[in-house]
Amino acid sequence: MTASLHLSVPHDSGNIDILSAETPSDIRLAIREDGAAKFYQWFYFRLTGAKDTRCRLTIENAAGASYVPGWSNYHVCASYDLDHWFRVETKYKDGQLIWEHEPQTQSVYYAYFAPYPIERYRSFVADVACSPLADQLPLGETVDGEPLDLLRIGTPGEGKPNLWVIARQHPGETMGSWWMEGFLPRLLDDSDAVAMALRDQAVTYVVPLVNIDGSRRGHLRTNAAGKDLNREWAEPSAEMSPEIFHIRHKMDELGCDFFLDVHGDEAIPNNFIAGAEGVPNWSQVQQQRLDQFKTSLAQLSPAFQTKEGYPVDAPGTANLKIAANAIAHRFDCLSMTLEMPFKDANVLPDPEVGWSPDRCADLGRSCLDAIWAVFPKLKQR
Ligand SMILES: [Zn+2]
Repeated sequence: MTASLHLSVPHDSGNIDILSAETPSDIRLAIREDGAAKFYQWFYFRLTGAKDTRCRLTIENAAGASYVPGWSNYHVCASYDLDHWFRVETKYKDGQLIWEHEPQTQSVYYAYFAPYPIERYRSFVADVACSPLADQLPLGETVDGEPLDLLRIGTPGEGKPNLWVIARQHPGETMGSWWMEGFLPRLLDDSDAVAMALRDQAVTYVVPLVNIDGSRRGHLRTNAAGKDLNREWAEPSAEMSPEIFHIRHKMDELGCDFFLDVHGDEAIPNNFIAGAEGVPNWSQVQQQRLDQFKTSLAQLSPAFQTKEGYPVDAPGTANLKIAANAIAHRFDCLSMTLEMPFKDANVLPDPEVGWSPDRCADLGRSCLDAIWAVFPKLKQR
């Protein structure tokens, strides 16, 4: 490394190994595996001392990443101020992820997607909890002993539907947190008619960040014990997956009439919903609720679409370890996974920023309208 060139890994959410940085024209890197599991794809680091210098960065182990199709047509996220994130043209070639960039300032940050540091999360939750319209409920601790946050918006009452919205079971999918920054403040807006009605007629429970440990540790997919939390819903363990153990226990106690689990997808360049069509108790009513939500969201947000997505599970073949399937099975309610892209939304692309924090927040606000559109159907059996 030259005297002025320096690479560093943020303690909060950072991930990269520096293989060599002798010269700006050949910086060689490798992504670290999740601590106790083999997954990797999330990266986030800082390069200092390269102002106005053409740099070439290569992630050597890209071919072994968890979702290799994620690299095709993918462009790295970069920021000078940790506020505005833009894309840098990137190539996936011979198993390596390569980009060239001439930073305009001395420090530049590169990441798989705009990071969402735990400090920002704590501050966001504290802000929400200060609203007279929100309550913060105890929900136990993570493997690392971090407090989990459960927020309640609306007053519990006889016959009111209980809506559950969670994000970031997978820590590398930071778009879930940016989505929350649109969804939650809108739900707390005291002059927004849809928010007022939902607060009056329903109780919404929100877990804004499920996998706090994995997020802080810079993991792609797992918690501190190496567990993929979205495969723990059949039999969550108090020791290995306490995050899900506590959420599921609370859902059993309070009930659930609507469930939305917010994620990001590495490969598919669009926003989409995955339903729970493969659960044994799938019914016409379940199908109608799902169709209504998807159609409404597509009308409300041109960034959302219904053509691309995961293949639908054949009847009775759903993996009941996955949250949306487990909840549809357990509570016979509308239960879905929302996937946002790491790349861009091809139906409404923005090459400058790709799919971005602001666009996640915008979709979060639109989802409130889609919930309202399907609301009359939620308690139908
Ligand atoms: Zn995910």
